[in-house]
Amino acid sequence: MDHQLRPRAEKKLFSGFTAFEMEKMERVLKELGQVPNSEVIKKMTGGFNRSAGRAGKPVLKWPEVQNWLLVKHQELVSKDCAFENINEASDTSKGVKDTGMSNLEFEAKSSDDSWYDVETFITHRFLESSGPQVLVRYVGFGTEEDEWVHAKNVRERSVPLEHSECNKVTVGDTLLCFQERNGDASYYDALVIDIQRKLHDVRGCRCVFLIRYVHDNSEESVQLNSLCGPPDY
Ligand SMILES: [Zn+2]
Repeated sequence: MDHQLRPRAEKKLFSGFTAFEMEKMERVLKELGQVPNSEVIKKMTGGFNRSAGRAGKPVLKWPEVQNWLLVKHQELVSKDCAFENINEASDTSKGVKDTGMSNLEFEAKSSDDSWYDVETFITHRFLESSGPQVLVRYVGFGTEEDEWVHAKNVRERSVPLEHSECNKVTVGDTLLCFQERNGDASYYDALVIDIQRKLHDVRGCRCVFLIRYVHDNSEESVQLNSLCGPPDY
């Protein structure tokens, strides 16, 4: 499957935002009409952490802010689409595709621990037991494969690394790695544990990356063209 993705440290969903912070985040969403990019979110998070209202409270991490924005955006989009959806109730394939999400692409981690490109966010829910979840439709899959995933398992789509980006990869990075095993091709998060640097030639990067898959701790030596990184890697 044509796929791309990026890695992040394990995200823990954070629910302790102040009223001021939530108000600010909601305003940004309404003004932009979409979830801001990670640079903007990092700046916003820094601003929150420096504000007086955060004094004595836990320091915010930017993925926590991003997760909140993703879930809230879905909520806003769902409201906007309510009328449209009623009119098109018989055509569920349309989802909420053309309502401002088109500038950003996402991937989601399925229950099998591999990441798939998201075509559409269909709806969302909040369960006391498991927190915010979104119902996603995957690119290349039909409605029968729609899946509820936790908001923390949704992120901006990773992109394949270019040969010139080889020197950005360092031991300890978590990247999205293409795995082909027993005829199955999947993308999993993997930790870079060793790099054998080689001279690049006309074919590009010849370096060998030893990676350890996060989901099962198995190790594999791969080349750069198996690795994808975050859009801002
Ligand atoms: Zn290289």
